[in-house]
Amino acid sequence: MITRRELGEHDILIDIKYAGICHSDIHTVRAEWGEGGHFPLVPGHEIAGVVAAIGSGVTRYAPGDRVGVGCFVDSCRECDNCRAGLQQYCTGETGAIDTYGATGRDGRLTHGGYATHLVVDENYALRIPDTLPLDAAAPLLCAGITLYSPLAHWQAGPGKKVAVVGLGGLGHMGVKLAHAMGAEVTVLSQSLSKKDDGLRMGADHYHATSDPATFEALAGTFDLILNTVSADLDLNAYFGLLKTDGTLVQLGAPENLLPVAPFALIHGRRSFAGSMIGGIPETQEMLDFCGEHGIASEIEVIRADQINEAYERVLRSDVRYRFVIDTSTI
Ligand code: NAP
Ligand code: ZN
Repeated sequence: MITRRELGEHDILIDIKYAGICHSDIHTVRAEWGEGGHFPLVPGHEIAGVVAAIGSGVTRYAPGDRVGVGCFVDSCRECDNCRAGLQQYCTGETGAIDTYGATGRDGRLTHGGYATHLVVDENYALRIPDTLPLDAAAPLLCAGITLYSPLAHWQAGPGKKVAVVGLGGLGHMGVKLAHAMGAEVTVLSQSLSKKDDGLRMGADHYHATSDPATFEALAGTFDLILNTVSADLDLNAYFGLLKTDGTLVQLGAPENLLPVAPFALIHGRRSFAGSMIGGIPETQEMLDFCGEHGIASEIEVIRADQINEAYERVLRSDVRYRFVIDTSTI
């Protein structure tokens, strides 16, 4: 059993209702990111729940409020990035403090959302709009913001052609968000098995990357490609799908290096970029956007005793489109 810290002046106690299963949980649990020292560990950074109690100095939240917590629970609050609301890129001594597997300010290991309760500083919690169900909103706290932030940064919108590679937890949020922003959206998936779903979520086009003809037909098409694939991928083939000045943003975080052929970028002045989740203000902006547009994750709610099975299914790309744990079953 893990314990949470005592409620500090600016802390809120969250009664967790749901926690999404992100592929990052699986990379971490399988020690694929070369860490491996932080076990036992409670994963989970797509957290949705209700405020159960507040510290004496809390001003933003009251008991009963619907709240979420994403991938980090603290940061230095003083560096340029923190001041700009880009806490995910905190350059302070510890960087942003991950929701799980990091050392918290109290010197203890942080533990995530596959749990019944969480204590967090009110400045690192988010408000979940009343129009969104808590279970389907939980994945917005990571998958949602991870796609919203690059779509906003690279100005996806009317007249822009956006491709989403991989229709999993991240990818399906990318399709919904890019469509709502007004972009023309293409899904690039390993097969056409999820085509009907992709089109229903708002994709305008859907292609199988297992078919070499896809890469010929779509050469030079996209302003923006968001790669959400959790495994190794031959990116050079995808650079060829960018227009002149187009950008491929790497979101998936496989354990191996990704070889880049220089000429795949040199031709057409193409850019290869990365992006990591989003800061607190942008995450709130994303939640409000989703509330207004009725956007949430497509989920399969599971019991705690089904987590291992769910991990295996995610690894087989058999997820439609996010597993969410009902934490009352823990
Ligand atoms: P996911 O639900 O497993 O989705 C990944 C998708 O990638 C799969 O559904 C599959 O889509 C495709 N895929 C899987 N293996 C593939 C292969 N061998 N070749 C080609 N395509 C393959 O995972 P997720 O939760 O969306 O996370 C995706 C990645 O993003 C993970 O590496 C995760 O750690 C990372 N991540 C990054 C951030 C960030 O801030 N940058 C945040 C969260 C997660 P199809 O079946 O459609 O092909
Ligand atoms: Zn995640």
